[in-house]
Amino acid sequence: MKELNFLDNLVGVFGHPVAENPGVVIQEAAFEALGLKRWRFLTIDVDPDKLQDAIAGLRAMKMRGINCTLPHKINVLPLLDEISPAAQLIGAVNMIVNDNNRLFGENTDGKGFMESLREAGEDPIGKKVVILGAGGASRAISIEMALAGASQITIVNIPSDRALAYALVDTLTKHTGVEAKYVPWESEYIIPSETDILINATPIGLYPNIDEKPMMDYDSMHGDLFVQDVIPNPSFTPFLAEAEKRNIRWNSGMGMLINQAAINIKMWTGRNPDKAVMTEAYRTIIG
Ligand code: NDP
Repeated sequence: MKELNFLDNLVGVFGHPVAENPGVVIQEAAFEALGLKRWRFLTIDVDPDKLQDAIAGLRAMKMRGINCTLPHKINVLPLLDEISPAAQLIGAVNMIVNDNNRLFGENTDGKGFMESLREAGEDPIGKKVVILGAGGASRAISIEMALAGASQITIVNIPSDRALAYALVDTLTKHTGVEAKYVPWESEYIIPSETDILINATPIGLYPNIDEKPMMDYDSMHGDLFVQDVIPNPSFTPFLAEAEKRNIRWNSGMGMLINQAAINIKMWTGRNPDKAVMTEAYRTIIG
Protein backbone atom coordinates (compact mmCIF):
# COMPACT_ATOMS: atom_id res chain seq x y z
CA MET A 1 0.00 0.00 0.00
CA LYS A 2 1.17 3.52 -0.77
CA GLU A 3 0.60 6.49 1.58
CA LEU A 4 -2.03 8.80 0.12
CA ASN A 5 -2.37 12.57 0.78
CA PHE A 6 -4.86 14.61 -1.18
CA LEU A 7 -5.12 17.46 1.33
CA ASP A 8 -5.02 20.84 -0.41
CA ASN A 9 -3.01 23.82 0.88
CA LEU A 10 -5.33 26.75 0.38
CA VAL A 11 -4.42 30.39 -0.20
CA GLY A 12 -6.15 33.02 -2.28
CA VAL A 13 -7.58 36.51 -2.34
CA PHE A 14 -10.61 38.14 -0.68
CA GLY A 15 -11.92 41.17 -2.58
CA HIS A 16 -15.07 42.81 -3.88
CA PRO A 17 -15.15 43.03 -6.84
CA VAL A 18 -12.34 40.57 -7.42
CA ALA A 19 -13.06 38.76 -10.70
CA GLU A 20 -10.30 40.65 -12.55
CA ASN A 21 -7.62 39.98 -9.93
CA PRO A 22 -4.76 38.16 -11.73
CA GLY A 23 -3.30 36.57 -8.57
CA VAL A 24 -4.47 33.05 -9.42
CA VAL A 25 -2.66 33.00 -12.76
CA ILE A 26 0.61 34.34 -11.37
CA GLN A 27 0.64 32.28 -8.18
CA GLU A 28 -0.49 28.94 -9.61
CA ALA A 29 2.17 29.24 -12.35
CA ALA A 30 4.72 29.65 -9.55
CA PHE A 31 3.33 26.69 -7.58
CA GLU A 32 3.53 24.49 -10.65
CA ALA A 33 7.12 25.53 -11.40
CA LEU A 34 8.03 24.79 -7.77
CA GLY A 35 6.39 21.37 -7.98
CA LEU A 36 3.89 22.34 -5.27
CA LYS A 37 1.15 20.09 -6.58
CA ARG A 38 -1.49 20.47 -3.88
CA TRP A 39 -1.36 24.26 -3.47
CA ARG A 40 -4.47 26.11 -4.65
CA PHE A 41 -5.05 29.86 -5.02
CA LEU A 42 -8.76 30.74 -4.76
CA THR A 43 -10.27 34.00 -6.00
CA ILE A 44 -13.08 34.72 -3.52
CA ASP A 45 -15.68 37.48 -3.71
CA VAL A 46 -16.38 38.64 -0.14
CA ASP A 47 -18.99 41.33 0.47
CA PRO A 48 -17.77 44.10 2.81
CA ASP A 49 -20.23 43.12 5.57
CA LYS A 50 -19.16 39.45 5.38
CA LEU A 51 -15.41 39.90 5.96
CA GLN A 52 -15.62 38.69 9.56
CA ASP A 53 -17.41 35.51 8.41
CA ALA A 54 -14.84 35.01 5.66
CA ILE A 55 -11.94 35.25 8.13
CA ALA A 56 -13.73 32.79 10.45
CA GLY A 57 -14.09 30.50 7.40
CA LEU A 58 -10.38 30.84 6.65
CA ARG A 59 -9.61 29.73 10.20
CA ALA A 60 -12.19 26.89 10.03
CA MET A 61 -10.79 25.56 6.75
CA LYS A 62 -7.20 25.91 7.98
CA MET A 63 -6.30 27.96 4.94
CA ARG A 64 -2.57 28.78 4.92
CA GLY A 65 -3.26 32.42 4.14
CA ILE A 66 -5.03 34.98 2.03
CA ASN A 67 -4.45 38.20 0.13
CA CYS A 68 -6.82 41.06 0.92
CA THR A 69 -7.59 43.54 -1.79
CA LEU A 70 -10.07 46.42 -1.95
CA PRO A 71 -12.21 47.03 0.08
CA HIS A 72 -10.83 44.75 2.83
CA LYS A 73 -7.25 45.97 3.37
CA ILE A 74 -8.14 48.21 6.33
CA ASN A 75 -11.23 46.50 7.75
CA VAL A 76 -9.36 43.24 8.21
CA LEU A 77 -6.95 44.75 10.78
CA PRO A 78 -9.07 44.12 13.93
CA LEU A 79 -9.67 40.51 12.86
CA LEU A 80 -5.97 39.57 13.03
CA ASP A 81 -3.79 38.31 15.90
CA GLU A 82 -0.60 40.16 14.91
CA ILE A 83 0.28 42.89 12.42
CA SER A 84 3.79 43.69 11.17
CA PRO A 85 5.25 47.04 12.28
CA ALA A 86 5.28 48.34 8.65
CA ALA A 87 1.66 47.27 8.05
CA GLN A 88 0.69 49.03 11.30
CA LEU A 89 2.24 52.27 10.03
CA ILE A 90 0.69 51.83 6.59
CA GLY A 91 -2.65 51.11 8.27
CA ALA A 92 -3.47 48.29 5.86
CA VAL A 93 -2.80 44.60 5.33
CA ASN A 94 -2.80 42.91 1.92
CA MET A 95 -1.64 39.44 2.98
CA ILE A 96 -2.24 37.14 5.91
CA VAL A 97 -0.29 34.09 7.04
CA ASN A 98 -2.15 31.52 9.13
CA ASP A 99 0.20 29.72 11.55
CA ASN A 100 -1.87 27.19 13.48
CA ASN A 101 -4.84 29.57 13.73
CA ARG A 102 -2.66 32.60 14.56
CA LEU A 103 -3.24 35.18 11.83
CA PHE A 104 -0.30 37.45 10.98
CA GLY A 105 -0.96 40.44 8.73
CA GLU A 106 1.66 41.98 6.46
CA ASN A 107 1.65 44.60 3.71
CA THR A 108 3.60 43.22 0.76
CA ASP A 109 2.53 45.97 -1.69
CA GLY A 110 5.24 48.30 -0.39
CA LYS A 111 7.78 45.49 -0.02
CA GLY A 112 7.10 44.30 -3.58
CA PHE A 113 7.55 47.86 -4.77
CA MET A 114 10.91 48.16 -2.98
CA GLU A 115 12.16 44.90 -4.45
CA SER A 116 11.12 45.99 -7.94
CA LEU A 117 12.88 49.33 -7.48
CA ARG A 118 16.07 47.56 -6.41
CA GLU A 119 15.82 45.18 -9.37
CA ALA A 120 15.71 48.28 -11.57
CA GLY A 121 19.01 49.40 -10.00
CA GLU A 122 17.62 52.15 -7.76
CA ASP A 123 18.75 52.55 -4.16
CA PRO A 124 16.33 54.59 -1.99
CA ILE A 125 18.95 55.69 0.57
CA GLY A 126 19.24 59.48 0.72
CA LYS A 127 16.89 59.98 -2.24
CA LYS A 128 14.39 62.81 -2.68
CA VAL A 129 11.11 61.25 -3.73
CA VAL A 130 7.88 62.69 -5.16
CA ILE A 131 4.77 60.49 -4.94
CA LEU A 132 1.55 61.27 -6.82
CA GLY A 133 -1.54 60.19 -4.84
CA ALA A 134 -2.22 59.60 -1.14
CA GLY A 135 -4.26 56.37 -1.17
CA GLY A 136 -3.32 52.81 -0.22
CA ALA A 137 -0.50 52.35 -2.72
CA SER A 138 1.01 55.72 -1.82
CA ARG A 139 0.88 54.88 1.90
CA ALA A 140 2.57 51.50 1.43
CA ILE A 141 5.26 52.89 -0.89
CA SER A 142 6.02 56.08 1.05
CA ILE A 143 6.37 54.27 4.38
CA GLU A 144 8.63 51.56 2.93
CA MET A 145 10.72 54.21 1.12
CA ALA A 146 11.07 56.20 4.35
CA LEU A 147 11.98 53.08 6.38
CA ALA A 148 14.56 52.21 3.69
CA GLY A 149 16.30 55.58 4.13
CA ALA A 150 14.85 58.03 1.59
CA SER A 151 15.74 61.55 2.78
CA GLN A 152 12.69 63.49 1.59
CA ILE A 153 9.16 62.51 0.51
CA THR A 154 6.69 64.88 -1.14
CA ILE A 155 3.08 63.73 -1.40
CA VAL A 156 1.29 65.40 -4.32
CA ASN A 157 -2.45 64.92 -4.13
CA ILE A 158 -5.70 66.47 -5.30
CA PRO A 159 -7.14 68.90 -2.74
CA SER A 160 -10.30 66.82 -2.21
CA ASP A 161 -8.06 64.37 -0.39
CA ARG A 162 -6.32 66.96 1.77
CA ALA A 163 -7.04 65.14 5.06
CA LEU A 164 -5.70 61.85 3.68
CA ALA A 165 -2.50 63.51 2.51
CA TYR A 166 -1.94 65.39 5.79
CA ALA A 167 -2.50 62.18 7.75
CA LEU A 168 0.10 60.40 5.64
CA VAL A 169 2.64 63.21 5.99
CA ASP A 170 2.01 63.23 9.74
CA THR A 171 2.64 59.45 10.00
CA LEU A 172 5.81 59.71 7.92
CA THR A 173 7.19 62.59 9.98
CA LYS A 174 6.36 61.16 13.41
CA HIS A 175 7.28 57.54 12.83
CA THR A 176 10.08 57.38 10.27
CA GLY A 177 12.11 60.56 10.64
CA VAL A 178 11.95 61.32 6.91
CA GLU A 179 11.39 64.94 5.86
CA ALA A 180 7.82 64.80 4.48
CA LYS A 181 5.49 67.39 2.99
CA TYR A 182 2.21 67.68 1.13
CA VAL A 183 1.72 69.66 -2.09
CA PRO A 184 -1.87 70.23 -3.28
CA TRP A 185 -2.25 69.10 -6.89
CA GLU A 186 -4.27 71.88 -8.53
CA SER A 187 -2.59 72.37 -11.89
CA GLU A 188 0.15 70.79 -14.01
CA TYR A 189 2.71 69.62 -11.46
CA ILE A 190 6.26 70.88 -12.03
CA ILE A 191 8.84 68.37 -10.79
CA PRO A 192 11.37 70.08 -8.48
CA SER A 193 14.83 69.88 -10.05
CA GLU A 194 16.34 68.14 -6.99
CA THR A 195 13.90 65.18 -7.28
CA ASP A 196 15.58 61.78 -7.65
CA ILE A 197 12.56 59.47 -7.95
CA LEU A 198 9.05 60.29 -9.25
CA ILE A 199 6.29 57.76 -8.55
CA ASN A 200 2.75 57.61 -9.91
CA ALA A 201 0.70 55.98 -7.11
CA THR A 202 -2.70 56.97 -8.53
CA PRO A 203 -4.91 54.75 -10.73
CA ILE A 204 -4.39 57.12 -13.68
CA GLY A 205 -3.61 55.04 -16.80
CA LEU A 206 -5.10 51.80 -15.45
CA TYR A 207 -7.18 49.77 -17.93
CA PRO A 208 -9.61 50.80 -19.45
CA ASN A 209 -8.34 54.41 -19.13
CA ILE A 210 -5.15 53.53 -20.94
CA ASP A 211 -4.69 56.92 -22.65
CA GLU A 212 -4.75 58.94 -19.43
CA LYS A 213 -1.69 60.35 -17.72
CA PRO A 214 -1.13 62.42 -14.55
CA MET A 215 -1.52 66.19 -14.88
CA MET A 216 2.13 67.29 -15.08
CA ASP A 217 4.52 69.55 -16.90
CA TYR A 218 6.41 66.67 -18.52
CA ASP A 219 9.17 68.96 -19.71
CA SER A 220 10.18 69.29 -16.06
CA MET A 221 11.31 65.63 -16.21
CA HIS A 222 15.08 65.95 -16.02
CA GLY A 223 17.85 63.58 -17.08
CA ASP A 224 18.82 62.26 -13.62
CA LEU A 225 15.25 61.42 -12.66
CA PHE A 226 14.01 57.85 -12.18
CA VAL A 227 10.32 57.42 -13.07
CA GLN A 228 8.23 54.65 -11.53
CA ASP A 229 4.59 53.68 -12.17
CA VAL A 230 2.35 51.43 -10.05
CA ILE A 231 -0.02 50.57 -12.89
CA PRO A 232 0.33 46.87 -13.75
CA ASN A 233 -2.22 46.78 -16.62
CA PRO A 234 -1.08 47.97 -19.11
CA SER A 235 2.52 47.69 -18.01
CA PHE A 236 3.62 50.52 -20.32
CA THR A 237 1.57 53.67 -19.63
CA PRO A 238 1.49 57.16 -21.23
CA PHE A 239 3.21 58.39 -18.02
CA LEU A 240 6.14 56.05 -18.69
CA ALA A 241 6.08 56.95 -22.39
CA GLU A 242 6.82 60.59 -21.41
CA ALA A 243 9.93 59.40 -19.58
CA GLU A 244 10.94 57.05 -22.40
CA LYS A 245 10.76 59.77 -25.03
CA ARG A 246 13.11 61.94 -22.93
CA ASN A 247 15.56 59.06 -22.39
CA ILE A 248 14.74 59.02 -18.71
CA ARG A 249 15.01 55.71 -16.84
CA TRP A 250 11.69 54.16 -15.84
CA ASN A 251 10.17 51.06 -14.28
CA SER A 252 6.62 49.75 -14.69
CA GLY A 253 4.13 48.57 -12.02
CA MET A 254 4.41 44.98 -13.24
CA GLY A 255 7.54 44.38 -11.15
CA MET A 256 5.72 45.55 -8.02
CA LEU A 257 2.88 43.10 -8.73
CA ILE A 258 5.18 40.15 -9.40
CA ASN A 259 7.42 40.87 -6.42
CA GLN A 260 4.56 41.23 -3.95
CA ALA A 261 3.18 37.90 -5.21
CA ALA A 262 6.65 36.34 -4.86
CA ILE A 263 6.95 37.59 -1.26
CA ASN A 264 3.49 36.15 -0.49
CA ILE A 265 4.53 32.75 -1.85
CA LYS A 266 7.75 32.77 0.16
CA MET A 267 5.83 33.64 3.34
CA TRP A 268 3.19 30.95 2.73
CA THR A 269 5.29 28.09 1.38
CA GLY A 270 8.84 28.91 2.55
CA ARG A 271 9.98 28.51 -1.07
CA ASN A 272 11.44 31.12 -3.43
CA PRO A 273 9.34 31.18 -6.61
CA ASP A 274 10.68 31.72 -10.12
CA LYS A 275 9.76 35.33 -10.91
CA ALA A 276 10.45 34.85 -14.62
CA VAL A 277 7.75 32.14 -14.72
CA MET A 278 5.33 34.45 -12.87
CA THR A 279 6.07 37.37 -15.20
CA GLU A 280 5.54 35.18 -18.25
CA ALA A 281 2.20 33.95 -16.86
CA TYR A 282 1.12 37.54 -16.25
CA ARG A 283 2.16 38.61 -19.76
CA THR A 284 -0.01 35.89 -21.27
CA ILE A 285 -3.12 37.45 -19.69
CA ILE A 286 -2.45 41.16 -20.24
CA GLY A 287 -0.99 40.71 -23.71
P1 NDP B 1 -6.72 54.51 -3.74
O1 NDP B 1 -8.09 54.72 -4.29
O2 NDP B 1 -6.55 54.10 -2.30
O3 NDP B 1 -5.85 55.85 -3.93
C1 NDP B 1 -5.69 56.48 -5.18
C2 NDP B 1 -5.13 57.89 -4.99
O4 NDP B 1 -5.01 58.52 -6.27
C3 NDP B 1 -6.04 58.78 -4.16
O5 NDP B 1 -5.25 59.72 -3.46
C4 NDP B 1 -6.88 59.42 -5.25
O6 NDP B 1 -7.54 60.61 -4.87
C5 NDP B 1 -5.85 59.70 -6.30
N1 NDP B 1 -6.45 59.86 -7.63
C6 NDP B 1 -7.35 59.04 -8.22
N2 NDP B 1 -7.68 59.52 -9.45
C7 NDP B 1 -6.99 60.67 -9.61
C8 NDP B 1 -6.90 61.64 -10.64
N3 NDP B 1 -7.59 61.52 -11.78
N4 NDP B 1 -6.08 62.70 -10.47
C9 NDP B 1 -5.35 62.84 -9.34
N5 NDP B 1 -5.41 61.96 -8.31
C10 NDP B 1 -6.20 60.89 -8.44
O7 NDP B 1 -6.05 53.44 -4.70
P2 NDP B 1 -4.74 52.59 -4.41
O8 NDP B 1 -3.73 53.49 -3.81
O9 NDP B 1 -5.09 51.34 -3.68
O10 NDP B 1 -4.31 52.15 -5.86
C11 NDP B 1 -3.77 53.08 -6.77
C12 NDP B 1 -3.26 52.32 -7.97
O11 NDP B 1 -2.19 51.49 -7.57
C13 NDP B 1 -4.30 51.39 -8.62
O12 NDP B 1 -4.34 51.64 -10.00
C14 NDP B 1 -3.77 50.01 -8.38
O13 NDP B 1 -4.01 49.17 -9.50
C15 NDP B 1 -2.29 50.26 -8.23
N6 NDP B 1 -1.65 49.25 -7.42
C16 NDP B 1 -0.70 48.49 -8.03
C17 NDP B 1 -0.09 47.48 -7.34
C18 NDP B 1 0.94 46.67 -8.04
O14 NDP B 1 1.31 45.61 -7.50
N7 NDP B 1 1.44 47.09 -9.19
C19 NDP B 1 -0.42 47.18 -5.93
C20 NDP B 1 -1.40 48.08 -5.37
C21 NDP B 1 -2.01 49.06 -6.12
P3 NDP B 1 -9.17 60.50 -4.65
O15 NDP B 1 -9.37 59.51 -3.55
O16 NDP B 1 -9.60 61.88 -4.31
O17 NDP B 1 -9.73 60.01 -5.96
